[in-house]
Amino acid sequence: MTKKVIFIGGTSYSGSTFFQLTLANDPAGFGAGEVRHLFRPTKERFLRDTWTCGCGDPACTVWDRVKQRGEAHLYETIFDMHPEVEFIVDASKNIVWMDQQRERLARQGIEVYPLIIWKTLLEFAHSLRKRKRLGLEELSNWPRYHRTYYSFIEDWRSIKYANYTHDQANVLRAVCAHLGIPYFEGKERFWEKRHHVLGGNLSSRIHLYSKDSEKYEDIRRRARGQELGQAETEHRRVYYEEPDQTALHQTIAELSQKEPRLGQIEAMLSNRDVANSAPLIQEWPDLRLSNSEIRMRQLRQYTQDHWGKIRYALRKSKTSGKVATQ
Ligand SMILES: [Zn+2]
Repeated sequence: MTKKVIFIGGTSYSGSTFFQLTLANDPAGFGAGEVRHLFRPTKERFLRDTWTCGCGDPACTVWDRVKQRGEAHLYETIFDMHPEVEFIVDASKNIVWMDQQRERLARQGIEVYPLIIWKTLLEFAHSLRKRKRLGLEELSNWPRYHRTYYSFIEDWRSIKYANYTHDQANVLRAVCAHLGIPYFEGKERFWEKRHHVLGGNLSSRIHLYSKDSEKYEDIRRRARGQELGQAETEHRRVYYEEPDQTALHQTIAELSQKEPRLGQIEAMLSNRDVANSAPLIQEWPDLRLSNSEIRMRQLRQYTQDHWGKIRYALRKSKTSGKVATQ
């Protein structure tokens, strides 16, 4: 099999962490998680000791070795270190990152499969409201992310979160058929495999560990009951919550004043569904960002990455300097 890298896209709360681990649950799979932050840290938490490998072994050196060989060899290094691995799942979700990696992988003869998992605007608004983050600015991420994704990424297919929760096995089957990887009974139980995964919020990471484990308790302690939501009552389950339309109506109405193409975005995402065998509509010209908007996003990302590198590289050398002099 030709080696593959599968990129998982999606807004916040789209279920991407759960989904990427499930896909990677295969003897030939490797879930890398939010690997972008290893090379391009944009927040201090990506440098802390708590931002460690999901395998739970404090002596694990996978990511040290990957980092050492550099971003240009990221996927090659993982393939070299794990000869049994045929496909890597990258859940960095950052669109400019995916676009840049895709170009590099094409030159290296590695196949690329972009997938996006998505919630409807109503479901996304519901997730925001549950976390007390519902506001026009936060909600605007939904059209922004999906239009940017469409403008940057080619040949992608989508997975509707609601379908995934209602019929996980069949949706997974369709995804695997599209990727040319095997589907097997029990693929959903991703915690049966040890994943060297990076990142993901605490409420998704907690599903990696069994309730009686030390790591599970450790995550509970760190979250202090705030971030976990239903991760404990719905431990290791994908579940669907019906959004309360009346509570969300006003903010959605405000957003549609600002962004009239909301219906089109949803139609596009449905049309690209991985299980949709009907001919795809290829173009949604109204949703494409203008060339100057595309350049602006690239530039913003470039600046953010470089500032992050400078700031956190300095921070790191300061800390190690301190340690050395003590
Ligand atoms: Zn590890």
